[in-house]
Amino acid sequence: MKIIWLVSSTVDKRKVKISELQGKVVGIYFSANWYSPCRKFNELLINVYKQLRSQGHNDFEIVLVSSDEDISAFNNYRASMPWLAVPYSDLETKKALNQTFDVEAMPWLVFLQPNNDDATMLHDGVELIYRYGIEAFPFTNERLEILHKEQKEKEESQTLVNLLTNHDRNYLLSHDSLSPQVAVTSLQGKTIGLYFSAQWCLPCVKFIPKLISIYQRIKQNLPQEEDFEIVFVSSDRDEASFQSYFGTMPWLAIPFGDPCIKDLAKHFDVREIPSLVILGPDEKTVTKQGRYLINLYQENAYPFTEARLEFLEKQMDEEAKSLPKSAFHQRHQHELNLVSESTGGGPFICCDCEEPGSGWAYQCLECGFEVHPKCVRPV
Ligand SMILES: [Zn+2]
Ligand SMILES: [Zn+2]
Repeated sequence: MKIIWLVSSTVDKRKVKISELQGKVVGIYFSANWYSPCRKFNELLINVYKQLRSQGHNDFEIVLVSSDEDISAFNNYRASMPWLAVPYSDLETKKALNQTFDVEAMPWLVFLQPNNDDATMLHDGVELIYRYGIEAFPFTNERLEILHKEQKEKEESQTLVNLLTNHDRNYLLSHDSLSPQVAVTSLQGKTIGLYFSAQWCLPCVKFIPKLISIYQRIKQNLPQEEDFEIVFVSSDRDEASFQSYFGTMPWLAIPFGDPCIKDLAKHFDVREIPSLVILGPDEKTVTKQGRYLINLYQENAYPFTEARLEFLEKQMDEEAKSLPKSAFHQRHQHELNLVSESTGGGPFICCDCEEPGSGWAYQCLECGFEVHPKCVRPV
C-alpha cells in the first residue's frame, strides 16, 4: 500500500503520518454517509471514542475509509468525527483496504493491535461496539474472552425475578380491573415473550395487530400443561402514550419508565424495536428473534425452540416442493422465481409485508424485488 499520510479531524486539519499510529490500537472504519445503518453506528462510535479519550486512552485511534460518493459528502460526514481519515482522493488506498480487510457489509470495523499480527486482528468491531461499548477496549482476544464469559454467566443466572422486578416492585401491570397487579413469580414455568416497543415507532404500530392475533391463537391452541404470556417493555416517551399504547394490548406490562427497562434492553442487546425476546419455562433465553419467527411462521413458531424451528424448516422445504417455480405478483411487473438459500436466496426484506425473511422466497432476478411465498398475491 502506498499510503503515507491520513487527514485528521476537520477541527485541527492536520496531515498525519502513518508512522504516528505505531504502538497504537487502530480501528479501520469503513462507512458512508448515505447509508443510514452507518450513520446510526457512527453516533455510537463517536461516543465510545470520546469516552476512551476522556479516560486518557491516547493509545487508540480510528481511521475512516469512506465510501462517500463525492468530496462534499465526505467532508460533511467527517466533520462529525473526531478521528482520522484516508484522504477522499486516495482511491487506490481505499480500494486496497477494502480488499485487505474483506469488507462484507457496512458499517465495518477492523481492530489492529500494535504488533500488527493477523492472529490478534478483530474483524467484528461493529458487533463488539454494539454489544459491549467501551468495555470492549482494548479490543484484544483476551478482553473478548472475559466479556463472553461474563455474558455467559449472566445468562446462566438469569431468572424472571431478577429480570423483571426491582427492589420496590415485584409485580407487572395487567388490564384486569380486579387484579391490576400480577406477581412476577406467577409467570414462572411459562413461555414468556418480552415485547420491546413504543407507540412512536411506525414498524411497532404496524406489527402490533399481527402480534395480538398470533398471541390469541397461540393461547387458544396451547397444550393443557403449558402457558404463554407477553410482557410489554415500553420505550414510550411519556406516560400518556404508554397508557394509550398498552391499552391496545391484551397482555402484561412493566410500569412506564421503570429502571429495569434499560437493563433489559442492554441485557438482551436490543438494537431496534419492535423486538420480541422469548424466554422458556426454565426462565432462560430461547431466542431474541421472536419478531422474525412470528413473521415467518405465525402462531406455528410457538414455543420458538430450536427443535420446533428445525421441524418447521423441514416442513417448509416439503411444502416448497409443491409451490410453482415462478409466479406473478400484483405489485410487480416481472415474473418472480422461487428461490431457496441454496439457489440464490438468502436474508431479504419482503417487498410486500416489509418484514425480514430468509430461506424460500419469490425473487425478481431483474430488479431484486422479493417476497415471502405466503405474500404472493397472484395477478
Ligand atoms: Zn412478506
Ligand atoms: Zn422486477
